[in-house]
Amino acid sequence: MQFRDLGKQYQTLKADIDQAMIDVASQSHYIMGPQVKELERDLAAYVGVKHCLTCANGTDALTLALKAWGIGPGDAVFVPDFTFFASAEVVALEGATPVFVDVDNVTYNIDVESLEAAIQQTIAAGQLTPKVIVAVDLFGLPANYPLVKAVAEKYQLLILEDGAQGFGGTINGQKACSFGDISTTSFFPAKPLGCYGDGGAVFTDNDEWATLMESYRVHGKGSDKYDNVRIGLNSRLDTMQAAILQVKLRAFDNEVEHVNKAAETYTQLLKGHVQTPVIPDGFGSSWAQYTIQLPDVATRNSLQAALKEAGIPSMVYYPKSMHEQTAFKNCQLPIYQSYSTNRLCNTVLSLPMHPYLETSDIEYICSKLIAAL
Ligand SMILES: *Cc1c(COP(=O)(O)O)cnc(C)c1O
Repeated sequence: MQFRDLGKQYQTLKADIDQAMIDVASQSHYIMGPQVKELERDLAAYVGVKHCLTCANGTDALTLALKAWGIGPGDAVFVPDFTFFASAEVVALEGATPVFVDVDNVTYNIDVESLEAAIQQTIAAGQLTPKVIVAVDLFGLPANYPLVKAVAEKYQLLILEDGAQGFGGTINGQKACSFGDISTTSFFPAKPLGCYGDGGAVFTDNDEWATLMESYRVHGKGSDKYDNVRIGLNSRLDTMQAAILQVKLRAFDNEVEHVNKAAETYTQLLKGHVQTPVIPDGFGSSWAQYTIQLPDVATRNSLQAALKEAGIPSMVYYPKSMHEQTAFKNCQLPIYQSYSTNRLCNTVLSLPMHPYLETSDIEYICSKLIAAL
């Protein structure tokens, strides 16, 4: 059994994907070929925003946003303490300071009370200027944007939606990657919408930021690519990856439906045995992960070992909080309380999840899991 069975997905879409790859090879327009522009147009329409620009990966997508906003030394950027490293890494790479914020116990997303406390403490300390809130759509569930937006407006901060895991999620029908002033996603193979290598995208309604990010994406280009007006990146999406994503985007809604059915089956079978994921009213998840909680680290670890014994892969996302990462150890970052994050690092376990997971697989996983408890 695979944790995320990308091979099965390829077998299902094989005819179209093979044709798309052959088309790119024979057209030999490997960099910024017509498929890139077409994909950007389709992604913008899918999400419901004015601009989509693809780039080399989800980490660069975050960097492009921070560069467009001119974030740098002396700026505070509020980032969830419970996320993938890249959400905070890009902030430090720009010379700004990540201020870590605790997450909600149940949704795993940024906790707005902790957010407001961190903003007020940052203002009171007087060293840094609050600028941006990075809200991560962890495990496929959009952050609570109605509440995050209220805080952002109160303190006049920008929202950067890190939708690397969130593409396909919704709030009252509105699509993820449309909630930030700028939003980003990743097409890393295991993300909800993945390609066959690295890829990413930024989304915004703002014309000026879109123009800036388009420049930063290709060596800070000005009127043409040999007129360089700012220091940028080389961060394009390959035409080959764009062509693969065009096929996958057409299959995507169907896949989101399947993962939601799989999640429902899991929850029916596991309810009462472990803490199952909670999707708040009005929210929709694209289930990048199906993550349960166990009472303590010993139970979690022995359960993971028992599942492995039964041939069932599982993952701990994430075993370490951001503020405990070695890379941030000597940065003297302001640390506020992270009670939920500290607990979650010891208690979470993600189970196999993908659109091609069979009900019989889920039944097998749940029976072994319940027996092991
Ligand atoms: C995967 C991920 C990223 C980075 O995406 P890459 O394409 O791997 O660079 C950023 N943020 C979060 C939350 C992620 O899960």
